[in-house]
Amino acid sequence: MSYLNHEVTYEIIAQETPNVIRNCRNCKRSSEYFCSERFRVNANQKVVDVWLIYKCVHCEGTWNCPILTRVHVNRLDPLLHQKFMNNDKETIWNHAFQINKLRRLCDAVNNDINYELRKEKSDSNLNEVTIRICCKYDFGLRVDRLIAEILNISRSKVNKMAKAEMFLLNPNLSMKSNVINNLQITVKGKYELK
Ligand SMILES: [Zn+2]
Repeated sequence: MSYLNHEVTYEIIAQETPNVIRNCRNCKRSSEYFCSERFRVNANQKVVDVWLIYKCVHCEGTWNCPILTRVHVNRLDPLLHQKFMNNDKETIWNHAFQINKLRRLCDAVNNDINYELRKEKSDSNLNEVTIRICCKYDFGLRVDRLIAEILNISRSKVNKMAKAEMFLLNPNLSMKSNVINNLQITVKGKYELK
């Protein structure tokens, strides 16, 4: 029997940025804050400060996440400066997905965000398939959860299949690891891909 080996690429596209959790002075309790997708840029003489503004989901009270602190204007790339001034979306998202930094500055980060899986090749029902993952932002999505979603099976089934060595991961991550860009998952057996 000959086995077909096709490669399918899935791009993971985040639909929103993670919320952060911190105390809100107005609400007088712990609250979630969402990224307003706006920078605040302050130039005091030749010194620039930049923050990314978050808003409390209940009262719109704000928290300013420090991005640049007292940087001399001559040391700031003019193009980047312009991006801060224009609220450039990609620049904002690059900062909004710095989850480790946000965890240090806040009580917690809610990285259970909505994302879309975009499939590049529509082959399905093959004997063996290699899935290539392409993802721009790391938000803690686990390998087993993603495989369960792509194959449309339960996570416990994924873990059973993993024990039966039906997946070949390159690089060789564990099922509990976070998904990384360019991860390749070879699946043995016939599965309809989402
Ligand atoms: Zn509030």
